[in-house]
Amino acid sequence: MIQNFIYDNPATLNNFQADIDETVDFLELFSELFGLYPFADEKYGHCMAPISGGMEHQTMTTQGFFEKSLTAHELGHQWFGDNVTCASWADIWVNEGFASYSEQLMLENLYPAEAAQNMLDVHDNVKSQPNGSVYVLDSLNEGRIFSGRLTYDKGSAIVHTIRFVLNNDTQFFQALKNFQQDFADSVAKGIDVQYALEAESGLDLTNLFSEWYFGQGYPTYSTKWNTVSGNLHLQVNHTTSTGITPLFTNPIEIKFARTGMPDTTIRFDIQSNSENFVIPSVGTVSGVVAIDPNNWVVNASGNNVKDPNFLAAIEESNLLNGMSIFPNPSHDKVTIDFASSGDYELILSDIQGKEILRASCKKEITLDVSALSKGTYLILLSDKTKGLLRKEKLIVE
Ligand SMILES: [Zn+2]
Repeated sequence: MIQNFIYDNPATLNNFQADIDETVDFLELFSELFGLYPFADEKYGHCMAPISGGMEHQTMTTQGFFEKSLTAHELGHQWFGDNVTCASWADIWVNEGFASYSEQLMLENLYPAEAAQNMLDVHDNVKSQPNGSVYVLDSLNEGRIFSGRLTYDKGSAIVHTIRFVLNNDTQFFQALKNFQQDFADSVAKGIDVQYALEAESGLDLTNLFSEWYFGQGYPTYSTKWNTVSGNLHLQVNHTTSTGITPLFTNPIEIKFARTGMPDTTIRFDIQSNSENFVIPSVGTVSGVVAIDPNNWVVNASGNNVKDPNFLAAIEESNLLNGMSIFPNPSHDKVTIDFASSGDYELILSDIQGKEILRASCKKEITLDVSALSKGTYLILLSDKTKGLLRKEKLIVE
């Protein structure tokens, strides 16, 4: 049952009826996503009062007006704030981060055309200053506790990022449901959200929370790329807006334009400030369309540069410094030793890149090149996760 107490003025109902009526859809949506409305045995409702926003009184929110994002935010608080309350002011994210993200979930499900712009606006506000954590360090500072930029907007943005990192909405929303049950009628810390997500997903989210919840600032990504024989060679670099958090290890999506093919969006796992990737069979990439095209991560974009020599940069990497080819030049048997064991794939090609043979190998491999005509060949060694590791010349004489 939904009860509404509004002003006794004929214009009020006319003005707000359509907005008020949407509460039913929001209640059903959030019950689906977070678990049944916690006070279903009682009621939900609104009581109008001359305030500038809303206040999420349990089962009876006070609002000064009706607008879908405000109504969704206060309704979200019935789960995050009223059913489960932040354990201390330092953990206010449990209330306001999730109530703010409820606005995004409402748009995504009921007004999908407005969702992307909402998250972009949230990101822009977060980035209006280079620092600040969602976790409240100074819990005696009321201005900081209720900071629109850090507690509400960054709080909402990082819930979105966590969802992206899980990359599994079933697990993500199940974790929120578990959290609501485990802490019903009780209090929880921000870190309890981490534990609930880890228990459901099996992931270790320590770095994610230390970078995005306790940490400060945001990354600026730039790329260097090249395509060779349909393979994309890519370097993803990032700097950060504050030295307090020098590295962000969340994955990032990058959208590429291709010649004669539709754009493609690829997700990259990031562990360091500079990462190299080789993505096979992408086609001819003509440019980077966008970093993070779906706005999962608060970030800024630096330069995206095509570097026609970029393959060489990978060849020179130290990933497999110990690789040796002997004898070289060779006329019958040649042994390639990789120094360290791995799941490698070796391709022997001619100098134009035309494949002659392909073999899986662990530590070393011996090839018979006696049937090959004299000349220069290429040995390309790749690894399933790191892509191309080495490209070396082999002379047959
Ligand atoms: Zn709120």
